[in-house]
Amino acid sequence: MVWLLRYCDRCDRYTLRGSCPLCGGEVRIPHPARFSPEDRYQRYRLMMRRMRGKL
Ligand SMILES: [Zn+2]
Repeated sequence: MVWLLRYCDRCDRYTLRGSCPLCGGEVRIPHPARFSPEDRYQRYRLMMRRMRGKL
């Protein structure tokens, strides 16, 4: 459940809550998703190219 981790810039602290447990401020998702829809689309296009090359 790593993607549920949030990060508070003020306290330099990670939390699972929607707000920081220390300062009560807003938290953000520290890392972008590994596989974005764009990446999937690029992989799909690459796969289609390979299939065309074989045909
Ligand atoms: Zn905080």
